[in-house]
Amino acid sequence: MDWNDSAEQAAFRAEVQRFVRERLPAYYRDTAVQRGFIEEAERDWQWDMMYGEGERQGAAQAWATALAERGWGAPHWPREYGGAGLSSMEQFILRWELASADAPVIGGGGTSLLGPTLLVHGTEQQKQQFLAPTLRGEILWAQGYSEPGAGSDLASLQTRAVRDGDEYVINGQKLWTSAGHKANWIFMLVRTDPNAPKHRGISFMLVDMRTPGVSVRPIESMSWRHATNETFYEDVRVPAAQVVGEPNRGWYVGMTLLDFERSSIASAVAQRQQLAQLLEHVLADRSPHRAPLLRAELAERRVEVEVLFNLSLRIASMQAAGMIPNYEASMGKVFSTELTQRVARTGTKVFGLYANLWSTSEPLSPMHAQCTQTYVDRTVGTVTGGSSEIQRNIIATRGLGLPRG
Ligand SMILES: Cc1cc2nc3c(=O)[nH]c(=O)nc-3n(C[C@H](O)[C@H](O)[C@H](O)COP(=O)(O)OP(=O)(O)OC[C@H]3O[C@@H](n4cnc5c(N)ncnc54)[C@H](O)[C@@H]3O)c2cc1C
Repeated sequence: MDWNDSAEQAAFRAEVQRFVRERLPAYYRDTAVQRGFIEEAERDWQWDMMYGEGERQGAAQAWATALAERGWGAPHWPREYGGAGLSSMEQFILRWELASADAPVIGGGGTSLLGPTLLVHGTEQQKQQFLAPTLRGEILWAQGYSEPGAGSDLASLQTRAVRDGDEYVINGQKLWTSAGHKANWIFMLVRTDPNAPKHRGISFMLVDMRTPGVSVRPIESMSWRHATNETFYEDVRVPAAQVVGEPNRGWYVGMTLLDFERSSIASAVAQRQQLAQLLEHVLADRSPHRAPLLRAELAERRVEVEVLFNLSLRIASMQAAGMIPNYEASMGKVFSTELTQRVARTGTKVFGLYANLWSTSEPLSPMHAQCTQTYVDRTVGTVTGGSSEIQRNIIATRGLGLPRG
């Protein structure tokens, strides 16, 4: 397999590099390190636009304008809805180059999950109402799928929605509603027919978070961040026109992922950069006692980062060939999230006792405490978006053809 760019891909890559050089606001260049430590969702420019002030908000506006000119804020959406209609290989290159420049990530639940879902299943009225404001960063979306008894086994969800005239009335609880304290809308899976088989009686609904009866309780993570929440719904009235797709068929609506680039390339780039900094640090540190012990481990990480690039390229090339990655995407997810943890752990070993420093601004904190903070914060990476065990089940059954346990 030849992973090198074709002439057209090389030209597109050069175009993206030029775009980043000319249009990425100085704020984003200068704050790349600090931005690595803020809540994942809040690294999106959309957050900066809604909640930032001064230079931060101005940078988000400038970046939004630059992206909008080319439709690159939603590269996988069709042009008529403000996207760029890029091929999956172009999306892959775009993500790669933006990650290399530490530009804000493309996506967020609104553009990566909800947008494609509306494009396929939404009414024209829903597309008109939600797509453009989402792209402009005026609507921030949370995702309300998981519940206390429904995570890996999502189809067990119990939050009820009962039809009452032109409305549904929702009662129940969602768990792990990331960014629920900042989002103004949420897309939810709710049970509309409790008597149907469990994948059947579910509907996909769009709910304004400011509706009476919605409440949000914070969950603080082990890295002292408030990124996610419990959300409660008490007699929340939602217009029936905000059901997406057919009622009771919401399970299938919720699983839509229109030709969305799923290669983990941004993570591969981030791992490569972090490891490069780590190696620089080791090579600059002439103390004889640490490096030899860690040499084999660092070499292993270096090889693993290249493996991740290869997994990413494999997924991208499958998508480019019109295939839908299945267990291959699970391999990428497991490998990328576990590698993030391994690179951070190797970093903490390299830094020895200095790895105890948590502050990113303390001059003695090596690499701005990046490895230490990642080590603690990215524990959840192997749980969110489908745990490693669930991904391994997919790899075992669909990839290796093993029987279900
Ligand atoms: C920080 C964070 C943010 C999140 N954000 C969101 C969000 O915004 N919106 C949202 O809807 N959800 C969100 N989630 C939920 C996430 O998708 C679930 O946590 C995840 O799917 C696992 O579900 P669970 O926590 O209920 O664990 P469980 O499903 O109860 O699993 C517990 C353990 O059992 C293992 N296990 C379960 N079933 C199997 C099986 N069949 N075979 C082998 N092992 C199994 C799991 O791997 C895990 O180790 C978030 C979670 C976290 C931690």
